[in-house]
Amino acid sequence: NKKIILKSRPVGEPKESDFALVETPTPEPGEGEILSRTIYLSLDPYMRGRISEGESYAASVELGSVIVGGTVSQVIKSNHPQFQVGDFVLSNNGWQTYAVSKGETLRKLDPTQAPLSYSLGVLGMPGLTAYAALLDIGQPKEGETVVVSAASGAVGAVVGQIAKIKGAARVVGIVGSDDKRDYIVKELGFDVGINRKTQELNSALKEAAPNGIDVYYDNTAGVILEAVLQQINLGARIPLVGLISEYNATSTPSGPNLMPLLIKRALIKGFLVGDYQHRFNDFLGDVSGWLQSGKLKYKEDVVVGLENAPDAFIGLLRGDNFGKLIIKVNED
Ligand code: NDP
Repeated sequence: NKKIILKSRPVGEPKESDFALVETPTPEPGEGEILSRTIYLSLDPYMRGRISEGESYAASVELGSVIVGGTVSQVIKSNHPQFQVGDFVLSNNGWQTYAVSKGETLRKLDPTQAPLSYSLGVLGMPGLTAYAALLDIGQPKEGETVVVSAASGAVGAVVGQIAKIKGAARVVGIVGSDDKRDYIVKELGFDVGINRKTQELNSALKEAAPNGIDVYYDNTAGVILEAVLQQINLGARIPLVGLISEYNATSTPSGPNLMPLLIKRALIKGFLVGDYQHRFNDFLGDVSGWLQSGKLKYKEDVVVGLENAPDAFIGLLRGDNFGKLIIKVNED
């Protein structure tokens, strides 16, 4: 059995010397287990998180252990009633040529339905990522503009095409080369491609999305997110799916760290009180009642005299006020 193990934790961009190829005897399946031979191994950006220490969305790979990974494999020995020798299965053999499994997480694949490797991509985890985050969070509507980063990749290519299928008027993909840009426009039907390495993002986005951006499917975060935010429309939706621009970072990127938002599936949503006038009667009823019953306390900081307003205002921005700042202009 050939395996690739994690030799050292990469600092910045992973190096070949962080990995080692080792050979061990092929394992034997025990009672209720199967042995499978790996045919395809999926390599995915999340693995960068797995080989680092610290919080990602799953546990780290231990030093000396086989690197994790989704695989398509073929059963070559079986002590499991549900799997026969010759079956193809979606498995998690990781970076190795053979693995033993109890079968719990295996899914049988039918090679006549689609090429086996598709279950690691468009018909598997990356495809579901594209489909679910776009449709459930992005919710593109007919006529809207959708932008996606890492647009020629496993996730992004599917995102852009589903957006088109769902009637988006304009689909813009951000990629890292001219070949990728040609591919997403000419082969995949994106309306515009932007090469993030050679084009100035702000002006390229303005030209590509003249009506603003309704959905930004974010695979990268970083400078692309920063540029996109300048051009989002009222009520835009932004599925935060990946932060690949930061996976190799050796120091904390400037600005807020968005990773906890992804890991905790947190919601940030812009708010303007003017949109909530329909809640005024509910609000007034509830809050008046809580004030009267003493459940809600309220403190005012009253400054007497209109002439003191400038000073009080300057203080408000410094934190001198203690409670709701009010100027008492005249006796009531
Ligand atoms: P891709 O096939 O898209 O490959 C990664 C691509 O990321 C590269 O080809 C490159 O494209 C782009 N990229 C790399 N570095 C940078 C950078 N510094 N700035 C901008 N773009 C960069 O991978 P996947 O489709 O598998 O994954 C895409 C994203 O989706 C990743 O962030 C991944 O972590 C995330 N993901 C999240 C999941 C979730 O459950 N939240 C599940 C699956 C994926 P280019 O050079 O063309 O820009």
